Amino acid sequence: MTTTAGILDIAITRNEHSKIGEIDFENLTFGKNFSDHMLMADFENGRWGDFRIVPFGNFEIHPSMASLHYGQALFEGLKAYKSPEGEILLFRPMENARRMNRSAERLCMAQMPEEMFIEALTTFLDIEREWVSNKEGCSLYVRPFMFGTEPFLGVKPSDSYRFMIITSPVGNYYDGAIKVKVEMEYTRAAKGGTGTAKAAGNYGAALYPAKMGQDKGYRQLVWTDAAEHKYIEESGTMNIFFVIDGKIITPSLDSGTILAGVTRDSIIQVAKAWGWPIEERKISVEEVVENINNKKLTEVFGAGTAATIAQIQLMHIGGIDYTLPEVETREFSNKVGKYLSDLRTGKIDDPFGWVVRI
Ligand SMILES: *Cc1c(COP(=O)(O)O)cnc(C)c1O
Repeated sequence: MTTTAGILDIAITRNEHSKIGEIDFENLTFGKNFSDHMLMADFENGRWGDFRIVPFGNFEIHPSMASLHYGQALFEGLKAYKSPEGEILLFRPMENARRMNRSAERLCMAQMPEEMFIEALTTFLDIEREWVSNKEGCSLYVRPFMFGTEPFLGVKPSDSYRFMIITSPVGNYYDGAIKVKVEMEYTRAAKGGTGTAKAAGNYGAALYPAKMGQDKGYRQLVWTDAAEHKYIEESGTMNIFFVIDGKIITPSLDSGTILAGVTRDSIIQVAKAWGWPIEERKISVEEVVENINNKKLTEVFGAGTAATIAQIQLMHIGGIDYTLPEVETREFSNKVGKYLSDLRTGKIDDPFGWVVRI
């Protein structure tokens, strides 16, 4: 993919006091440290402008800013890696640009032309190059986000928006297989709601049930459908996959309640290319339990940018803890996890054309 060079006039103010020397790249907590700069742009009078890269820090907002009161806020997430040759690699960033616009549409927010998003992103990462570590398992987590800024307390779509990019150096998100609770009471998303948008409010609403689960030792929830709590949907920030009887199964997006993950789509495409049978369809909690019991279920994993593949070692379903097959025995997820990692870090050929080099 090529980027449209120079459609934006991005003003750059360098940070004269880099904090990079203070960062312990061996011990990174997800989302705690930030690089030296941030990118900002404002949507006013119907157009995006004032793209600027400035030293990372606080900024002022108006107390009546629309998004603080009525939640017009969305985000994206992707990771930048360093190749063995020292280039910065991004994985399918155009998908993030497109998804941001789908989220914006649902939340009645301003959309951003995809070339604009890509140019802002690549210009910013070029400035933060040094922050992309090439240590095994390390990357620079990139967080584009947008929120309504109009100073007005009426409930209506904001007239103005701010788009920003911040980045955070990260290590492995989940260091090992996780225990999850299948949630049968609370709901993440209902048909017709905002589940398909990366809307900030979705995550706020999920904190309470997630905390209930965490207090009992379950790291993440697996959500079920709002109407009957009968079908599996996805996990907190990950899509979910099962391998049953040699078939890869993931809930289909038709329900209109599942976030369309870039990792999810990549796994589906790789599975197809490798000739594994893959089914996007409804999968019930009952089917999962039945196949755990008859030992046909061989793998369960979450898929998302933060963790890539998060192996699930235990599922709590209706009061029972089901221990799943040993992680070492999981052929597909181990293979696809390694393949996607190698692709993202530029270690292997990229037959899909997914990697963008800066
Ligand atoms: C971001 C997210 C995912 C994963 O999407 P990726 O593009 O693969 O990172 C899955 N589910 C939810 C709810 C998410 O917010």
